Amino acid sequence: MRVLMIAPPGAGKGTQGALIAAHFGIPHIATGELLRDHVARRTDLGLAVQEYLDRGELVPDQVVLDMVREALVAAKAAGGGYVLDGIPRNMQQARAAYQIARELGMIADVALHLDADDAEVIRRLLARAALEHRSDDTAEVIAQRLVLYHQLTAPIIGWYRDRGILVSVDAMRPAQEVGRDILTALEEMWPLLDHGPEPRGRPVDLTTLGEAFGATEPGRASG
Ligand code: AMP
Repeated sequence: MRVLMIAPPGAGKGTQGALIAAHFGIPHIATGELLRDHVARRTDLGLAVQEYLDRGELVPDQVVLDMVREALVAAKAAGGGYVLDGIPRNMQQARAAYQIARELGMIADVALHLDADDAEVIRRLLARAALEHRSDDTAEVIAQRLVLYHQLTAPIIGWYRDRGILVSVDAMRPAQEVGRDILTALEEMWPLLDHGPEPRGRPVDLTTLGEAFGATEPGRASG
């Protein structure tokens, strides 16, 4: 199963990405997490991107594309499935990610759109700010991230719709309900996909997925 996610910050990409990864036994490639890890370890890359993250700006395309290429090569060796979380964020990234995936023979099967309105994601991100202290979960930076989402990221949704791989889910509901709908939709698509030896997912049973939701209160989703 090869999935990429398009969603505003706070809609639940992190939570649902982890759920999909656990269900299908595939790597969860989260660009924001990878970048935050570099910042925390104070690598050269981390020092170079820290200001972008703190301001809620997008880091240069080439930085994330290089990271994603590396992660996809590893995913290929691990069986070929993946769930991409946080990329693409603009049309150039969508085209470049498609090229990389095509070269590797790993084009996405599904573009999963988590649909949530601004008021709801702002509410969730401010609640998360109190718990996780992410440097970009302040009212001002959240506003900037949402502007970029509407300007640059949301327009890509139509591109995936035209390619016939868009699945849109109402993400304004509790995380477990959203997760159940996502897994059900992905399982329904499975027979239509050509995956060779990759193992398939298990029946949709969220009770066995405590870990994916373990750190998450009902109704709360991380971004
Ligand atoms: P996220 O965890 O997906 O909300 O990403 C956190 C931050 O990481 C974003 O606000 C950007 O600064 C940066 N980032 C993550 N993914 C990308 C991407 N694909 N392109 C550019 N910047 C990104």
